[in-house]
Amino acid sequence: MNIVKLNNGVEMPQLGFGVWQVPDAEATPAVSEAIRAGYRSIDTAAIYGNEAGTGAAVAQSGVAREELFVTTKLWNSEQGYDATLRAFDESLRKLGLDVLDLYLIHWPTPARDLYVDTWKAFVELQKEGRVRAIGVSNFQPAHLRRLIDETGVVPAVNQIELHPYLQQADLRAFHAEHGIQTEAWSPLGQGGELLGDPVVTEIAARHQRSAAQVVLRWHLQLGNIVIPKSVTPSRIRENIAVFDFELAEEEMAALSTLDRGGRIGPNPDEFN
Ligand code: NAD
Repeated sequence: MNIVKLNNGVEMPQLGFGVWQVPDAEATPAVSEAIRAGYRSIDTAAIYGNEAGTGAAVAQSGVAREELFVTTKLWNSEQGYDATLRAFDESLRKLGLDVLDLYLIHWPTPARDLYVDTWKAFVELQKEGRVRAIGVSNFQPAHLRRLIDETGVVPAVNQIELHPYLQQADLRAFHAEHGIQTEAWSPLGQGGELLGDPVVTEIAARHQRSAAQVVLRWHLQLGNIVIPKSVTPSRIRENIAVFDFELAEEEMAALSTLDRGGRIGPNPDEFN
């Protein structure tokens, strides 16, 4: 498993397991299956409603706590300094953890104008040792710049929609310049049209790999953290079996021509 070093020295697996849209009761078997398959990083969020099921799988796994990396996210309605501290306690309680590995502000929700105060609470939680690394999700350059200017604390991670159809070149360049790690959500484009794209399937056939494995390999070679989701055991295993082959430079280049700039998810400047 490749490891990425975050800007405060904390180490995070480059590939993890996402659990969006997995009901709480199904999160326990799915996360258990993922841990058995070798995943050591799990991405959940308060709004997913499956922190308890995820935490139960972590507790039952038999894997040492320090070998697992757990991320959760603060939901929009809980932004603000005091509300964040309360929401964090609630997330930790549901997860059954003493210390969280990574806490993210789920969306900037600029219309609320609370993300700077929220970030100050995140900084406090990290100072107290209750979370090892802090970051954001769906932040645009203007939001990142404001956090950095007003607090001096650079997010360790920005988790953004990113796949070959939405490559986010400007945001990735901003991250590289500021030491922010890019984490791709919906790395497989939610398993839609992308996995049937002829450019992807042709490269997959050449390597005798699946389309999903080729897309994940593209992310890894760009340096992105990825958190593919599946509840199907064979796909859970397939999505982590991507460390024993490599795409050639011209294959990376061919995949990079697929950018359409279109989002699956909401526009972060408008979402509340
Ligand atoms: P994804 O790109 O990981 O696609 C998942 C879907 O692709 C699955 O439901 C399945 O239908 C299909 N799939 C998975 N593996 C496959 C395989 N090997 N072959 C064929 N099809 C396969 O999409 P996602 O779930 O939206 O994103 C992954 C994770 O990112 C989420 O679970 C969540 O943790 C995170 N996320 C975060 C945000 C955010 O706002 N921060 C938003 C969306 C998702």
